[in-house]
Formats: sequence, C-alpha cells, structure tokens
Amino acid sequence: QFDRTPLIAGNWKMNMDHVQAITLLQKLAWTLDDAKHDYSRAEVAVFPPFTDLRSVQSLVDGDDLRVVYGAQDLSDKDSGAYTGDISGQFLAKLGCTYVLVGHSERRTIHGETDEQCNAKIAAAHRHGLVPVLCVGEGLEVRQTGEHVAFTLEQLRGSIAGLEAERVAELVVAYEPVWAIGTGEVAGPGDAQEMAAAIREELAGLYDEATAAKTRILYGGSAKAANAGAILQGKDVDGVLVGGASLDAEEFASIARFEQ
Ligand code: PEP
Repeated sequence: QFDRTPLIAGNWKMNMDHVQAITLLQKLAWTLDDAKHDYSRAEVAVFPPFTDLRSVQSLVDGDDLRVVYGAQDLSDKDSGAYTGDISGQFLAKLGCTYVLVGHSERRTIHGETDEQCNAKIAAAHRHGLVPVLCVGEGLEVRQTGEHVAFTLEQLRGSIAGLEAERVAELVVAYEPVWAIGTGEVAGPGDAQEMAAAIREELAGLYDEATAAKTRILYGGSAKAANAGAILQGKDVDGVLVGGASLDAEEFASIARFEQ
C-alpha cells in the first residue's frame, strides 16, 4: 500500500493557545529530526486551532520544518456576512495544505450534514486545499451491525459530484465515533474492514485506479502502542490522532510506526 505515502495527522482540537502551539511544534520538529530514528516513511501533518495557524506558518516556513499543517474546519462560502466562519481562502494564505471536513465533533455538536460536507469539500478545492473527510458510525449503529452501510452512505453523500482526480487526492478518515477520545480502539481488523469497504466503494463509483490512490486513515484513540498494528491493514494509509498528538514524543513515535 505504500505507493500511497502514509499520513500521520494530529488533530489538536480546541487545545493549545498560540504560545503552547509553538512549544509543541518545536518539540515535535526536534523529535522528528532526531537522527536515531527514521521518520521519513510518513508525511506528518498537524491540525491546530485557527488562531494558531499564523504562528505555525511562521515556524514551519522560518525553520523549514518537515511538517505540513491544516485547519480543523472551513466555511463552504468564500467571503461575506458569515460571522465567525473561516474561509478556505484565508487558510490557503496561511499555508495550509489540508483541511478537516465533517469531523464527528462537527457533525454531532454543530449538526453538520453530508450535504454541508459536500459543499465544504467544494470550497476546499476552490482554494487548493486537500480535504480530509471524516466519516464513521456511532455506537448504536455499530451495535446493529450496520456500520459499513452507514459509513459508506456518509461517504457517498459527502463526495457526491466530485471528479475522479479530486477523489484520487482526497484523504478519507474512518473514525468510529465510539472510539474517539474514549480509549476504546477499533481492532486492526475493524480498521482494515472499513478501509477496504471504502476503497471498494470508490472503485465502484469511479474506477480501481482512482480508488488505489485515495488515502484512507483510521482515527479513534490511536497511540504509539497500537498504531503499528492498525497500519498493518493493507488499505489503511495512516492515522488521524487526537489526544496522543498533544504529546510530541508520543506523536513522533506514531510517525515512525513499526510494521
Ligand atoms: C480525533 O479527534 O480525530 C481523534 C481520533 O481523537 P482521539 O485520538 O483522541 O480518539
């Protein structure tokens, strides 16, 4: 699977003011530069709060860090009377590579729908950002055994109308809601099952070659101790890490996952 560069992504959520962000990023960069270990296999990305992005940009550009970054959300609009919203064009100007779309905390707390995710993906593309689309079922759905059907429906709704070239560069993060911030981790088999189902769905909607390029991540209580096993899944191309990304050393050890 490693024609697809593994992506190790850290979602800082609403943690780290800009001073803390600088300290964390410096420590992460310093750890990733440590010659004792090889971190070169993966692309490492962080997703700080909006208010940290300017500081992150200065640090990454100024010190030429081997870290890319993105935002945790964006507006589906480009500008105008949308108080409190953030346009993709601002994020692009701040040097963002990626943007999370439809994180489960946006879906549950802010009621974001697949249609809104679809519009946000279009907005990301208008501004040259790569969307990291988050999908995944809650516990009630998992208990009914309908988790694959549920997650694929979210996927279809969120990418409706997208051209194949966009799907090839898209990142999809499978994040079972019951595993986020709970310490409950989906087994490596569960992560691979869903990643394979997502890839097969993309192959059906588009074609095999397109589906073979899309990177599919797992997210949900990932940490250094379980990332290696999760990344064994042949369709699992990385992890989206919440809590464990706030510790530079822990996050760096995820980035040098043992296979
Ligand atoms: C997340 O927020 O995307 C996430 C996976 O969180 P955690 O790793 O803390 O479960």
